[in-house]
Amino acid sequence: MNCKNCGAPINLELKKCKYCGTFHDPKLVPVWNILNNRKFRKTTLYPLSFAFGIITFVLIYFFMFDKLSETELVQLSSIWYSAIVFGLYGYVAEKIITIVIQGKAVDFRSAYKFWSNNLLTNNILLGILARFFFFPFPIFNKMKPLPVAFVGAIIWGLLLIMFFKGVFPAL
Ligand SMILES: [Zn+2]
Repeated sequence: MNCKNCGAPINLELKKCKYCGTFHDPKLVPVWNILNNRKFRKTTLYPLSFAFGIITFVLIYFFMFDKLSETELVQLSSIWYSAIVFGLYGYVAEKIITIVIQGKAVDFRSAYKFWSNNLLTNNILLGILARFFFFPFPIFNKMKPLPVAFVGAIIWGLLLIMFFKGVFPAL
């Protein structure tokens, strides 16, 4: 099979021609245009959020631990914890969108599969941890990284609340 735009031979694994960028399936063009829009790419927000979460965690547990009550510790944990989840979810969602833009996958869901299978092949432990931590990713098919990061922080926030309710029923 050859590219209908430039005539170069097509690699069917890629969704677009590697010479001229034409999509084999014209239905993919609007998806590409949305994903490639700079407005939706927030590449510094997520690492910053992650760093903020880690720094807050260190400040609380290494410098303020003795001054805080158990209730205050639980309340503060929702801050560093959501910042870390938000940062990691957004960062990985950006990576997955990049896989779609590169034409290695058609949509978010198949790009996530591509990404997590790669991780699993390279590092089994990290791959299993990622499958567990990013378990809602396969449902995020039409979402952009920002809402993915928000939903991730909310899901893990609810799980944290359920955990605290189980451990400290008095709170
Ligand atoms: Zn071409």
